[in-house]
Amino acid sequence: MARFRGSVCKLCRREGMKLFLKGQRCFTEKCAINRRNYPPGVHTRPPRKNSAYCLQLREKQKAKRIYGVLERQFMNMFRRAERQKGNTGANLLVLLERRLDNVVLMLGLANSRFQARQLVAHGDVRVNRKKIGIPSYLVRPGDEVAIKDKDNIKKIATEAVELNKGQPVPEWLDAEPSQLRGKIVQLPKREDVPHPINEQLIVELCSK
Ligand code: SF4
Repeated sequence: MARFRGSVCKLCRREGMKLFLKGQRCFTEKCAINRRNYPPGVHTRPPRKNSAYCLQLREKQKAKRIYGVLERQFMNMFRRAERQKGNTGANLLVLLERRLDNVVLMLGLANSRFQARQLVAHGDVRVNRKKIGIPSYLVRPGDEVAIKDKDNIKKIATEAVELNKGQPVPEWLDAEPSQLRGKIVQLPKREDVPHPINEQLIVELCSK
């Protein structure tokens, strides 16, 4: 299961915006975007021309980075979105939202996307009482997502719940933070995607 292992703050600096990849640190003054809001790298480069291709590529990279997905998996998801009925871009974002690691994060059971992914990959998350260790697992309406009944894991999730107190939970999820679990009420819609992604640019690039 491949994942990006470099400095995630560089990804935000590359995109020129906060992608919120480091949990609570992203809301503090230590955030690299607050301190060094320019692209990473040693040499200063002249500002790039924003060609159509450049804008499309940046939008795709941004979506991949927000959801922690690498190129091949992203393209597989795009092909799947293309095969579905309706708007391909919206389908793609909905598929990304349905990932199990994203659901754990949205339910407030993890402090960051990385922690959510780790909880899933280490087999600490249950879907309908069954162990699912695949971060890209797609949840369905009616699924119940819960944290494994083990003290040290529950402690991690409880700390995350405390930190995430007051954060809104999307309408397509029914969170029960005190029980460290939540339910998928319905499939997410395009409007439920909280990230500033222009999916049309991604479709234009990936359809070439
Ligand atoms: Fe991005 Fe968070 Fe790092 Fe800020 S602290 S640059 S938002 S990952």
